[in-house]
Amino acid sequence: MRKLMRRAVATLVATVCLASVAMADNAEWSQPTKPFRVVGNIYYVGTKGLAAYLITSGKQAILLDGTLTSTASLVESNITALGFKLSDVKIIVTSHAHFDHVGGVAQIKRDSGAKLYAIATDRWSLENGLHDGETTYKRGRFPAVKVDHVLDDGNVVTLGDASLKATLTPGHTPGCTTWSTSVTEAGRALKVVFPCSVTVAGNKLFGNQRYPGIVADFETSFDRLAGMKADVVLPAHPDIADILGRAARRDAGDKDAFVDPDLLGQILERSSAAFAKELATQKARK
Ligand code: ZN
Repeated sequence: MRKLMRRAVATLVATVCLASVAMADNAEWSQPTKPFRVVGNIYYVGTKGLAAYLITSGKQAILLDGTLTSTASLVESNITALGFKLSDVKIIVTSHAHFDHVGGVAQIKRDSGAKLYAIATDRWSLENGLHDGETTYKRGRFPAVKVDHVLDDGNVVTLGDASLKATLTPGHTPGCTTWSTSVTEAGRALKVVFPCSVTVAGNKLFGNQRYPGIVADFETSFDRLAGMKADVVLPAHPDIADILGRAARRDAGDKDAFVDPDLLGQILERSSAAFAKELATQKARK
């Protein structure tokens, strides 16, 4: 009985913590921030707490992620503030099919006329507006959006001289996609990686009937990401890489503020430790 009580209290504490974390996050997720050039032909067009990146080729562009349904218009106005028309966005790609990254995609796709390219294993989620797989929380819905081009692992999406390579790094969602490209910044070639999230984020790691291979997928993804070289790391949650802080430091004169070849390894170290901990917790609860 005492054990049960302790577990109930622990669950309650965890739930409250999650709820307060979500609320704290949500405030920044919805706050506007000015768009800015990151490196080469890559621009930040997201909100304060959720990234959206514009990868340009002349007057045309690829958009990576759309933030929340309620912040789609902020992304759109950031794109136009940079001097692009919405119709200049020809292709939309996504990091993964969760409401905080693709909630705004349906609106931006409609308003721009862009085509949506997505990896096959996130297609169901995108077209049904729901996370694929069982979770320990109530899954957040988002507006369903049609995928125009289905991609496989390793495919390259190109628009003029801009290109993004899709590397499948599943687990967080079945189609979690790490995008990568190369840019030239002040005459120097830089490898840029947009890593997909590798947090467990409420996924059921055991007995997940819709996603039985989830643990093996996470492990493969950690290996794949560890094998990638990144001079610049641009995640979907900008705070993970202090994107806005780096922009401020760059504007203050630190020309290399975005160049950090150790960053991907540091992020992976933190997240694989968190994954191991969560795996052990869920295993004990099984
Ligand atoms: Zn997510």
